[in-house]
Amino acid sequence: MNQHRSDLHALAAAYALDALDPAERDDFTAHLPHCEDCRRDVAEFGATAARLAAATAQEPPPA
Ligand SMILES: [Zn+2]
Repeated sequence: MNQHRSDLHALAAAYALDALDPAERDDFTAHLPHCEDCRRDVAEFGATAARLAAATAQEPPPA
């Protein structure tokens, strides 16, 4: 019955993008303190999402 636990690792990107269902979010939030891999993934995805958000929120630079 460890399949659910392994699935949690795949939720890191969705968590960073705030795209999880509330139940999934709760599960992942509980998993995060125990999983260094997921903390790193969330940090990396979060940084990428922030860059994308900043890029799309601003006028594109003139070519
Ligand atoms: Zn994990």
